[in-house]
Amino acid sequence: MQRILTIIGARPQFIKASVVSKAIQAQEGIEEILLHTGQHFDANMSDVFFDQLGIPRPDVQLDIHGGSHGAMTGRMLEQIEAVILSEKPDRVMVYGDTNSTLAGALAAAKLHVPVAHVEAGLRSFNMRMPEEVNRILTDQISDLLFCPTDTAVRNLAKEGFDDKPTQVLKVGDVMQDAALFFAQRAVRPADMPAELLATDEHGKAHAEGKEGASQANPFVLATLHRAENTDDPVRLAGIVEALNRIHQDVAPVLLPLHPRTRAAIARQGLELLTHTIDPVGYFEMIWLLNHCDLVMTDSGGVQKEAFFFGKACVTMRDQTEWVELVENGANELVGADTGRIEEAVRRHLGRRVKDDGELYGGGKASERIVEHLLQGVDA
Ligand code: UDP
Repeated sequence: MQRILTIIGARPQFIKASVVSKAIQAQEGIEEILLHTGQHFDANMSDVFFDQLGIPRPDVQLDIHGGSHGAMTGRMLEQIEAVILSEKPDRVMVYGDTNSTLAGALAAAKLHVPVAHVEAGLRSFNMRMPEEVNRILTDQISDLLFCPTDTAVRNLAKEGFDDKPTQVLKVGDVMQDAALFFAQRAVRPADMPAELLATDEHGKAHAEGKEGASQANPFVLATLHRAENTDDPVRLAGIVEALNRIHQDVAPVLLPLHPRTRAAIARQGLELLTHTIDPVGYFEMIWLLNHCDLVMTDSGGVQKEAFFFGKACVTMRDQTEWVELVENGANELVGADTGRIEEAVRRHLGRRVKDDGELYGGGKASERIVEHLLQGVDA
């Protein structure tokens, strides 16, 4: 029996790991030990995903969050190392590009424990992004790189991975697996603003339903949390102004607000006029993706989910790791300039896009990952 220590800590990692864990459980041969670093800890940023997605309670729960990047990553490194020494896994598996990813990979590599990186090879080519630093370093010290796209495989080839013993494997995107697996579980957010719900002739908002967009009035679904936007006062002001203008002049905007963004907006004394709700669970997010008329985001995951759910996406960043969506016209990069964002939203509002299942593996990534893992650490 192979023992794999899976390290997760942030919202997107719960979603990614949930489908891989299910695929592991569907096979014999792998025992998974789950470690949660505590990087995200609020009920609506962590617990809700364990409950909804059926992720087992972590075997090891750390409580590391806040502070500077160095302090957070350093504390994780020290504590994960101790867990690896006591649990003696055959392999460590990490996801994505957070501080939990890098700390887990580094702790393992220093102890000569092989590392599998899910979502390897993605690049924004912007080294000012903490995520870019984390993913480049993690790829360098992993021996098994599970790439979601052809672009990711190409990025690694350009970095010389063809000449290394590292295995580079295109498996598809586990977020597509999650979107397909949980698609039928959509739940309308309890705090959905009444204005966004279609009403009957008696003015009564429609009750919960899963069967299509007819039960919501047109709205734009927005998410915003990347440090490159929240920690840059000029960018944040430009985006907030764009969201406000769009909400007032184009279509109502619904923003499930990340705690980091809430804090940054308060710190900067900005006023948000959009419909703002607390971060939602994944099932609620699927409902919103299903019912909205456009997605505006700076999230990596949400850019793809817009595509999975057939909606155009306006991305408030200067680069994206998911270039294939820009190339096929599903996604437009608009940066943080108010006028540019508003103009793009007007152009894309209501536009539908089609996922033919080619770009992201069509929901088979977790199965492929487990097949490779089952080949063992020496394969
Ligand atoms: N998400 C969610 N609730 C929210 C906002 C996002 O469940 O209120 C989900 C979203 O559907 C996606 C994931 O969180 O699956 C994306 O995580 P995030 O945007 O935090 O990180 P990124 O993808 O940028 O790394």
